[in-house]
Amino acid sequence: MKNTKAILKVPGTMEIRDAEYPTPKDDEVLIKVEYVGICGSDIHGFESGPFIPPKDPNQEIGLGHECAGTVVEVGPKVKNFKKGDRVCIEPGVPCGKCRFCLEGKYNICPNVDFMATQPNYRGALTNYLCHPESFVYHLPDNMSIMEGALVEPASVGIHAAMTANVKPGHKVAILGAGCIGLMTLQGCKIMGCNDIIVVDVIDKRLDMAKKLGASQTINGKGDTVSKIKEIFGELGADVVFETAGSPITAKQTQDIVMRGGKIMIVGTIPGETPINFLKINREVTIQTVFRYANRYPVTISAISSGRFDVTSMVTHQFEYKDVQKAFEDSVNCKNEIIKSVIKID
Ligand SMILES: [Zn+2]
Ligand SMILES: [Zn+2]
Repeated sequence: MKNTKAILKVPGTMEIRDAEYPTPKDDEVLIKVEYVGICGSDIHGFESGPFIPPKDPNQEIGLGHECAGTVVEVGPKVKNFKKGDRVCIEPGVPCGKCRFCLEGKYNICPNVDFMATQPNYRGALTNYLCHPESFVYHLPDNMSIMEGALVEPASVGIHAAMTANVKPGHKVAILGAGCIGLMTLQGCKIMGCNDIIVVDVIDKRLDMAKKLGASQTINGKGDTVSKIKEIFGELGADVVFETAGSPITAKQTQDIVMRGGKIMIVGTIPGETPINFLKINREVTIQTVFRYANRYPVTISAISSGRFDVTSMVTHQFEYKDVQKAFEDSVNCKNEIIKSVIKID
């Protein structure tokens, strides 16, 4: 059987190379990959190389970690999967032994092997891959394989909302309406929130936020803080999510959050952000979230129920052979693309 993989040759250039056809280990499932979502981290990797560069300069760098497909073979000790099952995978495989893993917070395991990053830089843009059974999930019959590929970013939004412990009646502000902002919006809806303001500087994204259930949207080119207070009142928001990954929006959170409220940092914010603690010294919590742990089952159920819409977010689809164009367009048409997926035949 023939296998290929798309490799980041140098920043800006992808190349499809022949790859070994993998054999599943005892506890592994061999999957024919059918859809891969392009994540912000993949676009960053394509433009500038991985966030954490490999120690070995000759390390082959794969991209893509949001994927789903069909099982073609299983290792001898696999119990819950068989050939033909439609599945999605959790791309991070933790060590299972450290204190964080044992506490159930395996997303912060220091030894996690996450796709397309250290230590193995194994990308999902390939025809076939093996993955441990414990991190493979069945897709319900009413879910497409494309939706399966989007369980990964949707889990980030669900994890952010569940970790924030948002409740019905909470006033929620979400700064950033890129893929993760829109997933966080839907996570908050699932948790019963109805008063959700979404802020972005791109109107197309704000339209999508409206469609996906935001009660109000604000174009962040204006005075975001006063507009939010006009809507929510002087006290501000119970919970503010930063999902844009920008020091500018990160700094705004301290002026939007209510006393006793919560600032949730979901985005990857470069550099330093000045926080005036006198503004938030009435028992405001600042919390960060990283990926997700134990959220795939609830995310799959939310999508399958029809209450969490990932399909509408897919504005662009590319063929695997056009992987170079897929990434170039993702870089050049940031204002047009909400979510891109690559279909692998
Ligand atoms: Zn992702
Ligand atoms: Zn661990």
